[in-house]
Amino acid sequence: MAGMQEVHIPLSALTAARRSPTLTSLAGPPLDAFQRPLRDLRISVTDRCNFRCGYCMPKEHFGPGYRFLPHADLLSFEEITRLARVFVGLGVRKLRLTGGEPLLRRDLPKLVAQLAALRTPEGAPLDLTLTTNGSLLAKQAQPLADAGLQRITVSLDALDDAVFRRMNDVDFPVADVLAGIAAAQAAGLGPVKVNMVVQRGVNDHEVEAMAAHFRGSGVVLRFIEFMDVGSHNGWKLDHVLPSRELVERIQRRWPLRALEASAPGETAERWAYADGAGELGFISSVSQAFCGTCNRARLSTDGRLYTCLFGHQGLPLREHLRDPANSDSDLAARIGRHWMQRSDRYSVLRLSQTEALPKVEMHFIGG
Ligand code: SF4
Repeated sequence: MAGMQEVHIPLSALTAARRSPTLTSLAGPPLDAFQRPLRDLRISVTDRCNFRCGYCMPKEHFGPGYRFLPHADLLSFEEITRLARVFVGLGVRKLRLTGGEPLLRRDLPKLVAQLAALRTPEGAPLDLTLTTNGSLLAKQAQPLADAGLQRITVSLDALDDAVFRRMNDVDFPVADVLAGIAAAQAAGLGPVKVNMVVQRGVNDHEVEAMAAHFRGSGVVLRFIEFMDVGSHNGWKLDHVLPSRELVERIQRRWPLRALEASAPGETAERWAYADGAGELGFISSVSQAFCGTCNRARLSTDGRLYTCLFGHQGLPLREHLRDPANSDSDLAARIGRHWMQRSDRYSVLRLSQTEALPKVEMHFIGG
């Protein structure tokens, strides 16, 4: 396949890689310490965002003086694409572009076009998607679709304009995000998914209004339990509204029926309205941890590999990438070795954690 460079990794190197850090080649997709494959790569293309959502980038910490990464520290589009190709050789089949706010990265359709050209070893295209706060989507949906983006997820935490402006903390109007969602649907980036982070006492009163708004629209609305991401969002367990409570609340208005997961390692528990008005999802990292099937890795804006959303440290890849002595096989061995030593299951252990090591911030590795 033109432009597609096969990465060959002998089996003996894989097992040896577990023991010996100096090996440069592996065979077959690596499995981690819990036999989880590497299937889903989230790529943060910028650590910047134009919102200051309290559960991710609270203004008190991410204020005017906050120092974001200088451009030279960001991976270039060519570097991201080369790394993505190496990850595909290790089993990745889904790429999600994230941030910060990815649509702030200039010329993003160029990167999308490069990633859309990648193929699996079997010659199939990858599942290429993106998560955005929707603020810039109305203008960018069509160019992203034209470049090869297949699907999109929009974060929207309330329909009430005052609640939404308070939650994004930059006084951004909800109407512009709704216009972005409509533009994404018109551009064929569907089914568009909308993610709502539900916080007790902050926006949980908006749940039924959100469900009513998106019922019958073709949009898949997902409710996310408030999580203790990073180290600055003031998370407390009693601010979490467990998904099962939400399912019961919605069932009281609209009967639901459970759906099967659509892919291995899927984070959302899927439900459908019994009357055919569409699908809902519940992402319950706190009350129903899903670490057992977690096949996700995250590439930070400056080229570090994180194997958990709640990780403390990432494996540096950028300097290896920029060292001409390192081939794609060398990079694959480095990543494969790291994945094989992975034993993350933070959400399973969350409430029994005794050590409070500082966690990576979500704006740096994507949600
Ligand atoms: S807590 Fe970490 S290991 Fe568990 S599902 Fe989330 S990212 Fe995966």
